[in-house]
Amino acid sequence: MAKVKVGINGYGTIGKRVATAVSKQDDMEVMGITKTRPTFEAQIALDKGLDVYVPDESVQAFKDAGMKIAGTIKDLYKKIDIIVDCTPGNVGEKYKAEYEAAGIKGIFQGGEDHALTGISFNSTANYSESWGAQFSRVVSCNTTGLLRTLSPIDKKFKINNAYVTIIRRAADPGDSKNGPINALEPSVKLPTHHGIDVQSIMPWLNINTMAVKASTTLMHVHTIVAELSRETTSEEILEVMRKSPRVRFVKSSEGLKTTAEIMELARDLDRDRSDMYEIAVWEDSVKVVGNMLYYYQGIHQESDVIPENVDCIRSMCKLEEDVAKSVEKTNVAMGILNN
Ligand code: NAD
Repeated sequence: MAKVKVGINGYGTIGKRVATAVSKQDDMEVMGITKTRPTFEAQIALDKGLDVYVPDESVQAFKDAGMKIAGTIKDLYKKIDIIVDCTPGNVGEKYKAEYEAAGIKGIFQGGEDHALTGISFNSTANYSESWGAQFSRVVSCNTTGLLRTLSPIDKKFKINNAYVTIIRRAADPGDSKNGPINALEPSVKLPTHHGIDVQSIMPWLNINTMAVKASTTLMHVHTIVAELSRETTSEEILEVMRKSPRVRFVKSSEGLKTTAEIMELARDLDRDRSDMYEIAVWEDSVKVVGNMLYYYQGIHQESDVIPENVDCIRSMCKLEEDVAKSVEKTNVAMGILNN
């Protein structure tokens, strides 16, 4: 079967990781990426053998910098079945009409609103809803993290109410525009959009979220309290999480006390860019008292959504109907192991 031809618009934190992940799959291939400016990232993309496409207005700048481009973004549209839009939040929506006119499918990221596509995607929670769709949206890193753990727990125990506080990294490690900061900044517009975003996929879930920005770049941490519809035990919850895809237990008692050690673990795993695609649940924090569940989880914001983008391509391009098979295929190609 012919491979699905994929383009990536925006080659920053998410785009470069999507390009690497797609290039590792045997049922899809990267036909090109886009860059707006002739930066070191554009040069590295060229060095890696990727075809680089640019907006019309950037052609001269690339010529002046001596960087060889494969064409304009419109030329890329002609070569692909689907584009993964990894441009900054609210930029993607400006491209939607172009994708539509070019007759290609498009995946947007969590920086865009759910209303742009009317369908949002998470492998664990709703893989089949994007089946054959022209447009879908892979939800944000925090929403992906919440869905990975809350969705299987809700399926088994039904969550009456979930209360989440997100301790957010202030900026990505490679970003010098937004940091460093020496402060904690509460998000005062409450409840925060995170819970509403979870409801774009689990509309029945009562979820309440708050967030505080912290002076760190490594990961986000979620504190989660969920009121279940019945009493259970910590062991039963651990059993559900153990079977949930892309959830990895870490233990404080084994030295994984903070996000710093989780990132060290990711480096030791020899992953691309030292990424931690799984949601890291502190196993020794999972505690049930009656019908109240408490736990902490860590989110590697730069990478948890990457395997979902690959699965989303499979669902939209009708490559694999069975979510478990797609998740397994993506995981094997990316070196993601089960608990
Ligand atoms: P980024 O700033 O790292 O990368 C964006 C890329 O798009 C850059 O290469 C930029 O040069 C390029 N770009 C800017 N304007 C463009 C345009 N008009 N046309 C084409 N390319 C353009 O951003 P990111 O962190 O990779 O975020 C991308 C999307 O992924 C956003 O929707 C964001 O909300 C979402 N997201 C980000 C994270 C994260 O933590 N970084 C996590 C999950 C989802």
